[in-house]
Amino acid sequence: MAPVPGTSGAVLDIDRLYIRRIDGGAYLVIDSISNSLDVVPDDTFRDVFVDCNCDSKYYGYYAKRYGTTHEGLRRLIEEDLEEKVKTTSVIICPSYRCNCCCCYCYQQSGAPVLGTMDEGMLERILGFAREILTDGVTEHNNLQLFGGEPFLPENEWIVKAILETCRDLKVPFIATSNLVQMDAFRRTLYVYRGYIARICTTIDGDRDTHNRNRPSKVDTDPFSTVVENIDYLLGIGIRVNVAFNVDRMSMDRISSFLDIAETKGWTDNPLVSLEIGRVDDRLLEGCADGIVSESELLESIIALDAERGLPGNIRLAFLKATEPLAQAIGLGFNQKEWGRSRYYYCWASTPSDRIMYIDSGGNVFRCTYTVGRPELRVCSLDVMRPDSGMPTGNVLLEDDECWSCSIGGYCSGGCMNTRRISKKRVCEEERANFDNFVDRVVIPWVRNKTEERGVRSVSNV
Ligand code: SF4
Ligand code: SF4
Repeated sequence: MAPVPGTSGAVLDIDRLYIRRIDGGAYLVIDSISNSLDVVPDDTFRDVFVDCNCDSKYYGYYAKRYGTTHEGLRRLIEEDLEEKVKTTSVIICPSYRCNCCCCYCYQQSGAPVLGTMDEGMLERILGFAREILTDGVTEHNNLQLFGGEPFLPENEWIVKAILETCRDLKVPFIATSNLVQMDAFRRTLYVYRGYIARICTTIDGDRDTHNRNRPSKVDTDPFSTVVENIDYLLGIGIRVNVAFNVDRMSMDRISSFLDIAETKGWTDNPLVSLEIGRVDDRLLEGCADGIVSESELLESIIALDAERGLPGNIRLAFLKATEPLAQAIGLGFNQKEWGRSRYYYCWASTPSDRIMYIDSGGNVFRCTYTVGRPELRVCSLDVMRPDSGMPTGNVLLEDDECWSCSIGGYCSGGCMNTRRISKKRVCEEERANFDNFVDRVVIPWVRNKTEERGVRSVSNV
């Protein structure tokens, strides 16, 4: 197909577009690279996209809108990476021990269990953190605690040492905890509260669902303990992210989760962020029946919003390939992709943030899902450099199949963990997910817009 005059060599490459015939005599056309959507009436579609009539008055318009070259994409990627806020996070895992046994825990992979971090290892990690967090410090640099469960009584000296380093370096502290044994840390958290950016915890739906999905070895009603500890943290001015990790069995509990948040006054509390996450199976370990796809979950969130109205402090944390288009049509529900850049599937495959999880054996990991799996570590602390674990390259530019794929700019190669095991599974799941998203979310949105405006065509930009 010949380049269109006046369009910087843009070519209308139909094979790369996502095209679907819809009701009302029109086609839905989506370009995943420019994140544009158009409803094109049948006659125009035939003229431009089937007959490729360069003389059509619409041909130049669509070629410009949808014509991306490899070089153009390279520029877009560079510009986006340039604009992105950069973060350095050193995330310490004192041990993989836990006082709960959640049904979807990433760290129950049967890998050999390491003991609790000793003083020598903690000193080495904090020494490294001092160097890396003060080299190009930004307000987004932070020191974090992860696990296993970090707030175990035996970890008190580790938590204090980390908080003391935060105080000394003036970098914010973030912890991810189930809050089941946080009581023992109340005093410490109170003393250092000025350095604590937030505590991230989980409430899976209501009491029964939470206690079933996240049973504790030391507490018969972890739900009540978590709720009580969230209130304590809020009471001393610490921000709390309360996440609900949804699977197929708990999907109908989102409303109960919101009821609890409302009753507790969390929906109006500026210190609270309510997150909806998704249980996933990135290493294809066989819990597929319990996994709900991102498009199914988004569909149920949209229905819930129509039914009861969602609070302003709720945000989604599970959209990946569907995120740019969902945001563009106003259905992203406050999802913030701080670490992820466009044309990368997730933050862990975006080559800009320096984020490292370090465990008691000095193993370094990049992505949350891989923590505690020695075969998926990035390197050891012994050979650690500031940029260790930062991904290189971009799958869209390197893989011809992804470049010419109709959802390439959204999927961008998919999860690198799943991809290592089976690219075929990535493609099957991402394409099925996107098709469902178009059927259940995008087409109803288009229908509303065309009816509302009384027009035959609509576009998102
Ligand atoms: S991984 Fe598969 S679905 Fe994803 S962009 Fe590449 S070819 Fe398309
Ligand atoms: S590579 Fe990305 S998508 Fe895959 S598990 Fe890690 S963070 Fe999630």
